[in-house]
Parts: sequence; C-alpha cells; structure tokens
Amino acid sequence: MIFSLLFVINNKTKPKATSMLLIRISTLLFTVLFTVLFSANLLAMPVKDYLPQGIKLNTETPLPSSTLGFEIGQRHLRHDQLISYFTQLAKHSKRIKLTDMGNTAQHRQQLLVTISSPENLANLESILAKRDVLTQTKVSNSVQDPLVIWLGYSVHGDEISGANAAMVVAYYLAASEEKDIKAMLANTIIVLEPSINPDGMDRFVNWVSTYRNSAMNSDANHIEHHQSWITGRTNHYWFDLNRDWLLLSQQESQHRLKYFHQYQPHVVGDFHEMGPNSSYFFQPGINSRTHPLTPKENVSLTTKLATYHAKALDQKQRLYYSEENFDDFYYGKGSTYPDINGSIGILFEQASSRGMQQETINGLLTFEFGIQNHVLTSLSTINGSWKNHLELKKYRHNFYQQAKKLADKEKFDGYLLHEAKDSYRLKAFLTKLAQHKIKVYSLKDDFDFQDKTLKAEHSYYLPLAQPQYRLIKALFNQQTHFKDNTFYDVSGWTLPLAMNISSYPLSSTWGLELADKAWMLSDHSTLNELATNNYGYAFEWHEFLAPKLLNNLLANKIKVRVANKAFTSLVNGKSRHFDAGSLVILSGIQKQDNWQKLVLNASNQTGIDLHALTTGLTSQGIDLGSNSFKKLMLPKTLLLGGKGISQYEAGEVRYYLDETLQIPLSIIDHADITKIDLSSYTHIILVDGNYNKIKNRVAEQLKDWLKQGGVIIGQKRGAQWLADQEILAVKFATKEQINALFDDSELHYKEKEALASRKRIAGAIFKAQLDISHPLAYGYHQSVLPLFRNSTLIMEQPQQPFITVAKYSPTPLLSGFADKNLENRLAHNAAIVAHNYGKGRIIATTDVLAFRGYWYGSAKLLANSLFFAKAFSAPVK
Ligand SMILES: [Zn+2]
Repeated sequence: MIFSLLFVINNKTKPKATSMLLIRISTLLFTVLFTVLFSANLLAMPVKDYLPQGIKLNTETPLPSSTLGFEIGQRHLRHDQLISYFTQLAKHSKRIKLTDMGNTAQHRQQLLVTISSPENLANLESILAKRDVLTQTKVSNSVQDPLVIWLGYSVHGDEISGANAAMVVAYYLAASEEKDIKAMLANTIIVLEPSINPDGMDRFVNWVSTYRNSAMNSDANHIEHHQSWITGRTNHYWFDLNRDWLLLSQQESQHRLKYFHQYQPHVVGDFHEMGPNSSYFFQPGINSRTHPLTPKENVSLTTKLATYHAKALDQKQRLYYSEENFDDFYYGKGSTYPDINGSIGILFEQASSRGMQQETINGLLTFEFGIQNHVLTSLSTINGSWKNHLELKKYRHNFYQQAKKLADKEKFDGYLLHEAKDSYRLKAFLTKLAQHKIKVYSLKDDFDFQDKTLKAEHSYYLPLAQPQYRLIKALFNQQTHFKDNTFYDVSGWTLPLAMNISSYPLSSTWGLELADKAWMLSDHSTLNELATNNYGYAFEWHEFLAPKLLNNLLANKIKVRVANKAFTSLVNGKSRHFDAGSLVILSGIQKQDNWQKLVLNASNQTGIDLHALTTGLTSQGIDLGSNSFKKLMLPKTLLLGGKGISQYEAGEVRYYLDETLQIPLSIIDHADITKIDLSSYTHIILVDGNYNKIKNRVAEQLKDWLKQGGVIIGQKRGAQWLADQEILAVKFATKEQINALFDDSELHYKEKEALASRKRIAGAIFKAQLDISHPLAYGYHQSVLPLFRNSTLIMEQPQQPFITVAKYSPTPLLSGFADKNLENRLAHNAAIVAHNYGKGRIIATTDVLAFRGYWYGSAKLLANSLFFAKAFSAPVK
C-alpha cells in the first residue's frame, strides 16, 4: 500500500531539486503515518514475540507462518489451516503426536495433539493404560507416572483467540531447547484440543473475513463485530458444546469423551472469550457456587495454580480478575466436568476483539493481544501444574480412593433402572452412562419389586460403589436446596428424569442376580423379516424412533392409520395387546407393487418390530376396519427463525426432527413470513423468541391458515405471542403478578442481586401430570412426566375441559432451584395445552420439550404434535 502511494506521488510531480527535498520529507511523513495507521497489517507479530524472551528454539521446527503464509493473529485462521499447521509440526517434531478423534457433523476433523518426550510418545498407550483408574481394579499409582495436562480451546467457535494460542503453545513445546522444558516433557503429557468446535469456528471465521476491511476498523459498530443469526458459538446443530460434556447429545462431545477418559488428566484448561469491555478472568470463580460434590481441595489447588497465572499476567502488566462472575456448579462445562472426574478444571476468559480489533473501555483491543494472554496462561497452567505435580497426583488418587468410602456411607447400595416399553430410550440412557465410564449390570432373572415383577430384559442395576461414584451422584441427584441460589447455568439436570427412565434406590441387592460383566453397547443388530400375505402389520408408538419409522412410511406413500383406542390381536398365534396410539398398515388398501419392501426397509432403519396381523377381527377392542383408526398425513413443517429467536431452542427442534427422526424441517426468517405461501405447510413451530418484528397482518395470515386446518406449536414466548394475538385461548400470568409473589419492602440494597436470583428459574425440573388418554400423549404409559423449564412464564389452568394435556403437580419441583413462591404459583397450572382453531389446532407449552437434545422424555410430545394433532378435537367456546 505504501509503495503504490509513493509511486503515485513521485509520478504526479515532476520535481526540481528543492521540491524534490520537500517531497522526500512528505513521503517520509506518509510512510510514518501509514505505518502507524496500518500497523496491524504490516507489523504482524512473529510467533516468538508471543513467547518468553531470550529462549533457545530449534530452528528446524516449522513456524506457523511458514505453513500459513501469515503470522498468528494477522488473520482469522480457518480450521483447515489449523489442521495443516499441526500436520506439518507433527511431521517434523518427535514431541508431537496427532490423533483424529472423529468428524463433526460438517465433516471437519476433531484433532487431538499430544505433546511429550519422544520416549513417552513411543510408549503412550501402555503409560495411559497403567494409570487407568476407571476400568482397572489394580492401578499403579506411582509418582513416577507422568502428569497429564489437557488444554481445550475455543469450544465457542467465535471465541477464537484460544485456537490461535494453541498453535503458539504447540510450536513452543515442540521447538524449545530449554533444559526445564525438556525435563518437564520427560515427566508430563500435554494434550491440546486446539479447536473444540470446528464447525462453529469456520462459521465465525467466514463472517469476520467477509466483513474485514483492509484498513483495520476498530469501530465497535462495524458489522465485522456483529454476527447474524446462528453465531459461531454453536456447532452444526446450534448446540452449545460447552453445556454438553455431561449430556453427550452431540457427536463432538461423544468423540472427545472417549479420549478424555483414556488420558484421565490431572488438570484441564478451558479457554474462552467474554465481552470486549472486560479484562481477563481465570478461576477460582465464586466459591459459594461450587457444586458440593466437588472436593474442597479442588478449589485450593485451583487457587494455588491461579498464582502462576497472576504472575505471568503481572509481568506483562495485563488486567485480570478471579473469584467473580463465573461458577463451578453445572457439571456439563469444559471447566466443571473435570472437577467431577478427579481433575482440576480451570476456566479462562479473555475480553474479545470479536474481529481484528475493537475500541473498548480499556483502550484498543487487538486480536493478537487476546491470543497472547491465552498463550501466557496456557504456559502458566503447564508451569504451575508441573511445579505442583506431586500434589495434583495425590489429589487425583484420593479422589478415587474416597469414592468407595463415600458410597459405603450412603443409605442405599445402588439404583435399579427400568423402562418397560421403549428399549431404544433405555439403551440410549445406558450408553450415556457407559460413555461416562459408569458401570451398569444387566439382570439374569426377573426381579420382584414393590408389588411388580420387573422383567430382566427391561431392567439394569447400577451399584454406587465404583470409581465414578461422584459422577453417578451428579447425574442422579435431585437437590432442591442450595447454599447460594444464583446459577450461571441450569441448577437441575437429573438424567433419569430427563430421559424418563424409572430409577429406584435399592438398599439391598438381596435376590438380585446380576451379569458378571458390565453392560456394553454392542453393534449387533438383527434385520427384521416381514411375513408376507398378511392382513396387515402393527407397531407400537412407545419406541423412541417410532416417529422416524412413521414419517419414512408416509413419505413412501404407505397408508398408515393410528388406533385411537386399544385393541388385542393375534400375533404369531398369541394374543397381543396394542395400546391406543399403535399404528397399523393394512395390506388391503396399499396401492404400490413394492410396498412391502418399502415397509421392511423402513422398519430395518429403526430396528422397530412390525407385528404381522392375520385377521381384521380383534379379540378385544376395536377391529382393524373400525373408524377409530384414523388416517395419518405426512407433515410438512416450518420453523420460524431469524434474529431475536432463540438459536438454541430452534437448534433443539431441528436436532430432534432432522438428525434424530430424519423428518425434513424448513426454516425461514420469521420477518419473511408474509412472503411465503403457507398453504403447503401442515405445521408451524414458534420457539422462544421476540416476535415483535412480526406485523399484525401476520397474525391475520396465521389465523386464516389455521382455519383451513394448519397446526401451530408454540413454546415459551412463541406460545405467549400466540396468546397475545388471541390465537391461543390461554391466559399468561402477568409480570406484575409474578413480582407480587415477592415481598421486597424490607430488603436492603445488598439483597438486590439475591432477590433477582429468586425471581428467576435458571433451569429446573418439574413434575407434570400428563393426560395419557389424550392423543398427544400416545406412547406414554405413565401419567407422571418430568418437564424442564428455564423461564417464569406461567399459563393459567384453562377453565374449559379437555384442552389441558399436562398440568403441574401440587408440589412440582423435582430437581434444581425454584423459589417456593414460584413453585406454588406453578402448581396445578397448565404445562401443555391444545385446542381447535377452525379446522386447525394450537399446541402450546412454557417448557423446553427437547432441551439440549437429552430430554428424550418430553421431546416425543413434539413428534406427537406433528402426527396426532388431528387425532383429537377440543373446541374452545
Ligand atoms: Zn465461551
């Protein structure tokens, strides 16, 4: 840029000697000016400037710039560029080993980088196996075993300074010729996950690179700093991977956890970014909000390591803070999951330039500045951990030694797990436990329990006395009282409640015959066969994937009917009961020549058995030709998205319908709805969001569409907007009514924050009574249904009959925090309502039905709303 400008000046003026001098001076001034203005472009920071000064580095080790063609921090690096640098580095360094953990949904590689001495890397597998406390009974616990440090970067893809810092850290550890570093690597294994969320990372990089100007623009208003709907924070399915460590709904988490449990780190660093006007945060966070299952020594070790971060940042005179804002309560985060696995998890947050540079209250914040801070604390984590390695090893050893003693103190021995009708959901539950290295045993015999005989094939036993005792407690706990009622994230996440699996604490295992080996997921799947020349086929709706099967059949133009009442029919010469909500495929009305082949294929894709029916006459209940079997239609569903709509809730619906059930979902910006012909859609879904952008005439458009037979599903503020438009015939409690529940007349100023926390429901589980005779509840065989809510939106119980599908129990709080006033206000009120509107239907809820992809229990209500909305009729007057 400067050169071309000089060229212009020199050519325009054909100077004599004196003016020549002037021009030289002005050129010099221009040079200085442009150098200052465009310093970010021109004076890129070489990698060694991120590192301690005066150190000896191996010149053979490839520099990031030699692969990338630019310096770290000079541009926003894409995931493929990150992979190519690590590939080069591993090729030329014996201290680096790369592992491909798997692919993301968009087929980007999940890379794990192991750094240690060449000797350790050569024996990595046996080193790791020797120190495995989770799967082996006798474990070596020598202080000679290496220290393991795991550093994870940029789980939020738009917090990208971490991914860039990871490359500098790896280069340094590979190239360093320092004696101390060599000695440390001989006794330490460092694991980097340089980019935890590759799909989100590239979404962000494409945004920033698209809007990045050549002249650096630090204006906070510039579009470079403001992403559109679906930010780089989330992964392909718009999930926050930093909530998924415990829930494991996303493939990135499942792939990673396998290696996490193989490496069993002593320390885990989790590198993020926060608002541009902040400084730098490192844990410990707020002590009173640490989960009580985390040992106290965890906090003291975190505090000890914090002195190393402080020292590193002090040397550069960087601003920072700790013991504020963030907490260690919810175990689904990258800095907390380690805390319940014998490790020390540490959160790091850097103020974000959210682009190349941004003007902030602390001055100009550049991308490079953020990267350097994360490099400093990555190295202080390694240094501090190495200096305290004996204590860290002792801590981890004690953590698992205590597990048995703590389990012995419990009033019960373990949990009996049971689900009679949905083998898929039960298996999904067991799979999550197995991924967390929790051992569960199948039963050899049926077991008599509480006046019931629990079938062996539907029941499992989970003993408390095992290394993962604390993690079991974290997953099964139903705590409702807390020392501190402020929560950074959800306060209740009880896994069996979310997946609607019965779990009974057993105080004695007397009479229980258990398998010798713990349950493991097997790939063994049998292909179904379809007996031909039958009257028809039936399958039950209890199975989690039944909606996938049904949608596949309907998409292939197979005629399927739903039984609105129960019936009993002969199957293989034996009498078999089918609940209301069972589906039948009647041979006599199918039109296509190859229909049986299509039916068989669809059944094999879900593993759901089709029962052959030999006659239309049933021994009990409705006959197969009865009008109580209703014809079903293939749904065509539209989800309203766009700025202002919750990307998480939209993502959860998308993940459930698209990924889990393979049901196509069209998504539009809700502001564009008037441009769309709605007549081809059967369903419209409104999740939580601000719908104020929608004009009044949209409400009229929707009303017309509903009158013609459309179905609307509204969740949280989506439902409230429908009520505001008088589409949904339900009253919501007003903000004033909610506020009036709290007496604030005698409070002091210092209690302001605590009051705000009491007025919130950050995320807790509530008990609802489901009307299982309602078609929207097909597939549920128990009337108690746990639901998740994270708002204080309350639908008043409708006065009219038959429109409440589920309502809250008299004392509804099952797990997590809700103020008693709010709990009482929720009691008896409506959780799910559904009624007619012209020929159409409205279905509404204030809960999050498919929350974070692990709420298998309530998610099915969404599928039921797609298929059975016309199987009920509940007019409002
Ligand atoms: Zn973050």
